[in-house]
Amino acid sequence: MVPYKEALEEIFKSISLEENKGEIAKYIPELEKVNPDNFGVYFSTLNEEEYGLGDWEKKFSIQSISKVLSLSLAYKILGASIWERVGVEPSGNAFNSLVQLEADLGIPRNPFINGGAMVICDLLISNLKNPKEDFLDYVRKLSNCPNIEFSESVAKSEKKIGYRNIALCNFIKSFGNMDNHPDEVLDFYFNMCSIEMNCYELTKTFTYLKDNNFKTEDGEKVLTSSQVKRINAIMQTCGFYDESGEFSFKVGLPGKSGVGGGIVAIFPERYCITVWSPRLNEKGNSYRGMNFLEAFTTKTQLSIF
Ligand code: GLN
Repeated sequence: MVPYKEALEEIFKSISLEENKGEIAKYIPELEKVNPDNFGVYFSTLNEEEYGLGDWEKKFSIQSISKVLSLSLAYKILGASIWERVGVEPSGNAFNSLVQLEADLGIPRNPFINGGAMVICDLLISNLKNPKEDFLDYVRKLSNCPNIEFSESVAKSEKKIGYRNIALCNFIKSFGNMDNHPDEVLDFYFNMCSIEMNCYELTKTFTYLKDNNFKTEDGEKVLTSSQVKRINAIMQTCGFYDESGEFSFKVGLPGKSGVGGGIVAIFPERYCITVWSPRLNEKGNSYRGMNFLEAFTTKTQLSIF
């Protein structure tokens, strides 16, 4: 048996003692209110060996981690046709970059940069009766946590300063890669990013990417094995924006980060782990989260490679 518990405890302790570097995501005013030194971890294996450390019960803004969930729902509803609207290549650019989109004629490189996530939001709006409610229901079903909610204050706060996202959305619309009105797409996008969860809830939500045989409480297999493989693959190559190569190199697992300071990483058929620490490095990924996961796969000597 892998001594996961010992590794988690040791690494948590040693990282807690180190200086906590980086900045909280202040560009969204509401996120500035969070204590930058919160630090939580939740770990769960395939056979439900589970451990929570530090602030694992405190809710936080999952931000871009939600993009995996919206992609999964669009993929489930529409299948491979979604790849006509968004690519699967790493962008090598910041998550909110505009320059590449012009050269790519409005087809975002992948579904995890902001533009790509907006195209996915557009697809969901066109294909769901009550887009926001139906998306939230889907997330609740995946996690089996009925109390997951959007944060109205975070969504509002981001809407107020979302000039760059507004530009991105309009830019995509101008290329004809958006069916709905940009205001509607942005409203969905900001709400989706505002979802709050704690480390436990995020880890539970991502069980469907950890366990190929995952079924919801009512017995539904949400994605095919091939779809699960592909989503994990995109997380591996695109989950950390222009630091995706670095995360892959250091950690060796598929994962996804958000500017709320959360990172979820999956070891398919073995475990899922969420680390939350709000201080971000200059690429917008959690400073302690990256360090924790690098130490964890190093210490356990286990990664997908
Ligand atoms: N809502 C954030 C934004 O659009 C999400 C970014 C992120 O988490 N990387 O800027």
